Amino acid sequence: MKFERILDYLMFREGSEEDNLSDNPTVTTGSIVWGVILRSSIVIILTLFLVRRFDFYEYWWYSFFAIWFFVGFPAYRQYQKFQDRMKELSEETLCGKCRHFNSGAQTCQIYDVHVSKNHIPCEGMQWEPRDFD
Ligand code: SF4
Repeated sequence: MKFERILDYLMFREGSEEDNLSDNPTVTTGSIVWGVILRSSIVIILTLFLVRRFDFYEYWWYSFFAIWFFVGFPAYRQYQKFQDRMKELSEETLCGKCRHFNSGAQTCQIYDVHVSKNHIPCEGMQWEPRDFD
């Protein structure tokens, strides 16, 4: 359970099918960006500490590897999975085909709430077809 908590604190979650069923999804574009900022800050602070404390001035560029493995790659995977989920949500829900759906945030722009496979906030009353240009 502690490992799960660490994943949450560092915003490492990749999201799952459950996010498409939940009104409070774990992974959104906002959470991905926040994770990148948080983990980048940790890597930079840790690099500065190690370089100054142990005179690792010649090895500072190792932090680029840390940024890739700790920040870039996880964010890339999170975004890929998020895109897959959004595609599925768009294909399988009424909201996904509505012009008021914000796929980046998984929200309805009118109600400003998350939508899911189980929850259509307007119950279809304000649905308008999306332009598929
Ligand atoms: S207006 Fe209705 S159908 Fe359209 S995104 Fe909002 S809740 Fe979904």
